[in-house]
Amino acid sequence: MEKGGNLREIKSLLEKFTNAHGISGFEDDIRELLEKELEPYVDTMRRDCMGNLIALKKGEGPSIMLAAHMDEIGLMVRYIDDNGFLRFVGIGGWFDQTLLNQRVVLHGKKGSIPGVIGSKPPHVMKEEDRKKPVKLDDMFIDIGAKDREDAENLGIEIGTVASIDRNFVPLANGKVTSKAFDNRAGIVILIEVMKRLSKYKIEANVYAVGTVQEEVGLKGARTCAFGICPNVALALDTTIPGDHPGINKTDSSLELGKGPVVTVADASGRGLIAHPQVLRWLKETAAENEIPYQLGVGSGGTTDATSIHLTKEGIPTGTVSIATRYIHSPVEVLDTADIEACVSLIVKAIERVGKYF
Ligand SMILES: [Zn+2]
Repeated sequence: MEKGGNLREIKSLLEKFTNAHGISGFEDDIRELLEKELEPYVDTMRRDCMGNLIALKKGEGPSIMLAAHMDEIGLMVRYIDDNGFLRFVGIGGWFDQTLLNQRVVLHGKKGSIPGVIGSKPPHVMKEEDRKKPVKLDDMFIDIGAKDREDAENLGIEIGTVASIDRNFVPLANGKVTSKAFDNRAGIVILIEVMKRLSKYKIEANVYAVGTVQEEVGLKGARTCAFGICPNVALALDTTIPGDHPGINKTDSSLELGKGPVVTVADASGRGLIAHPQVLRWLKETAAENEIPYQLGVGSGGTTDATSIHLTKEGIPTGTVSIATRYIHSPVEVLDTADIEACVSLIVKAIERVGKYF
């Protein structure tokens, strides 16, 4: 397919998967969508006890596991007060200030309920309080309920989860914005890779895995890597660029539109130090096929690769990421051209995986 067609398809998948909701531990809707998308391109599909989706395109060669986490960060109700306002905990790494005055969707037992995150208005704050960031503990969700009973009748209870209500919008120059590009970007790459691989006869045994609970401790990846025990694994995720105001190139050398990011190390080596043979495989594949890429060394977050590479006696593992601005906010921004280049890199790498593993 010509390049414009691919980008259109990538955009429409990103829209579908980021407008959908699935916070850590509650990934069912995302898994169902992913199952439908992968079904035509794989030989088998199963769901393990954690909720990971494990799809397989069978081959005779080495086994490769591609892992993309399905979950997004979200909220969980911990208390309903007498007036029907909901207190909550954050599930995953929120920067509290990004939550203030956002619209949310509560996934109640009677269906979706809209709400907003409220707090004390600045007009009535003391001068010194106005200068301080509002903490998550001082925020609450307003669903318009009259009182606790009314909220309960609407299907809200302790443990009801909520996600940000913010839809996908295209920006200029192939960039797009939405919530949850972390990590629906990885999910879309997974789908596009399997779609393209289905057109060839390839040697490798390719496992396409949608993992659960990455944002709360890389949990799903740990159990499914143990079950699969592949010869090599790649985590597909998002990472932080240094190409906008407020951050320097010395903090992150990465930029949008410069190709997928091949991680050399993340979390200053406490997360993943990529296996040297994985790096060779990815770098040589990119060079021989003239696919742009960037090398990434991070000091902050990590990915499913950290769990995967420590499985059993160790699994050669790497991470390929998409540079994404404002990660863990409702307005993440990425460049669709990076996704297209990432898909090409992974497809080409899988075609020649037997030479390396
Ligand atoms: Zn992620």
